[in-house]
Amino acid sequence: MQLHWHRRDLRAADNRGLAFAADAGPVVPLFVFDDGVLEHAGAPRVRYLLDALGALRERYRALGSDLVVRRGDPRDVVPRVALDVGAERVVWNKDYSGLARERDTAVRRALDGVDVPRESVHDHLHHEPGSITTNAGEPYSVYTYFWKKWRDREKAEPYPEPPGDSLADPAVVDDTGALPSIADLGFEEPDATVQEAGADPARERLDRFCDDGVFRYETDRDYPTREAVSRLSADLKWGTLGVREVYAATEAAMDAAEGDEEETSVEEFQSQLAWREFYTHVLFFNPEVVTANYKEYENDIEWRDDPEELAAWREGRTGYPIVDAGMRQLKAEAYMHNRVRMIVASFLTKDLLCDWRHGYAHFRNLLADHDTQNDNGGWQWAASTGTDAQPYFRIFNPMTQGERYDPDAEYITRYVPELEGVDPSVVHSWHECSALQRRNTAPDYPEPIVDHSERREEALAMFERARGDD
Ligand code: FAD
Repeated sequence: MQLHWHRRDLRAADNRGLAFAADAGPVVPLFVFDDGVLEHAGAPRVRYLLDALGALRERYRALGSDLVVRRGDPRDVVPRVALDVGAERVVWNKDYSGLARERDTAVRRALDGVDVPRESVHDHLHHEPGSITTNAGEPYSVYTYFWKKWRDREKAEPYPEPPGDSLADPAVVDDTGALPSIADLGFEEPDATVQEAGADPARERLDRFCDDGVFRYETDRDYPTREAVSRLSADLKWGTLGVREVYAATEAAMDAAEGDEEETSVEEFQSQLAWREFYTHVLFFNPEVVTANYKEYENDIEWRDDPEELAAWREGRTGYPIVDAGMRQLKAEAYMHNRVRMIVASFLTKDLLCDWRHGYAHFRNLLADHDTQNDNGGWQWAASTGTDAQPYFRIFNPMTQGERYDPDAEYITRYVPELEGVDPSVVHSWHECSALQRRNTAPDYPEPIVDHSERREEALAMFERARGDD
């Protein structure tokens, strides 16, 4: 008997660890609700997790087995279940964050204590941390070089789903365990409508994207209403799809691409998949970036952290329409379009002079796709504190960003109904309107809480002080 411990690999197909365990089968699949992990979770993410687990359990049942569900400290639970089912080996897929690695080391020790062998398998990325390095063997801190090697490296094919006869009969455990409710886990049902979780809806998203969006990705991905992005972030975060399956679909799209533009688009999408791996390598080699700046400045950055401004940003009432639309999309859907994530993150750090850690904490609470390495990488990029970061003097203008990427204010009015029916040119020049004009056109929409041009100067001065420039 083999025990496969699922963590962020909530699928049966293209699961390297599971396939590896199944080769020696039969396999008992296990998931453990870990209070230590739940402590850092937000309600939308927990909703997504529960739905994905429900779908995984159904899949196992269809294959004649079942998912064993437990709650507790994995250091106790995993060895206990291993002994209960008489496991000859416990298998799991590697996780690369600092906390996950600490947990895995502790579980490894606990299994050693009861003499059950274990194997951790590389699955979550195409190329494991340490496998793509500079010629001197150092991890990359610049994406472009990383990408060239990542792109040229051979990728594994998807692993097949284990056949039913390689999975254990559920009778091997007394009680497979019920899935808890969200309230049992200490969370309220989120206000947000979270996208459907599980391998089937994830595969539908992948197929839909590879039929259309992937061929327009290069030109349309920055426009939030053009639907040229995959919406796979939560699937990649939770592993409801395997990375090899996603990559194979993009290679099939590459074969179907007509002309250079479409091929470039497919490659541009593949390069986003590589960003996810790059940031995972960065996190693996620098676990402290979760709370500390990656890039060192000579002096501390004197963030202002005004609580009222921070609250206005969180609630989407800054008076900068594209920022407010993004923050409200986050609240409504537990998701935000990438271009808008960049705009709201820039606004928080460069217009409100607020420490990126406040933004990261808010995203972590509300995003269904919160993934430490990407969220952290994105925030530190926007705050000019990360690898490849936006240089401190390149500050997004939220009005021109809105005008360029949402010219008809279609995205904005979808989430900011107070601006419905207002001429897009007025929406995009809200900061320049007189108080009277604002009252007459959209009385319920707030005045801009700050002046972008003034704040831009203050941000530059703040970074110059941090750099030690006079
Ligand atoms: P697509 O454009 O279809 O991209 C496909 C996949 O590539 C994504 O699902 C993701 O896994 C990866 N990817 C795309 N862009 C990036 C990127 N810039 N960095 C790393 N990987 C990327 N992504 C998350 O998955 N979780 C987060 O918590 C997260 N927080 C972010 C916070 C900020 C401030 C910023 C600027 C970006 C953040 N991103 C995060 C990256 C990006 O915004 C999302 O991955 C993307 O919007 C998800 O939508 P999609 O799946 O349709 O993306």
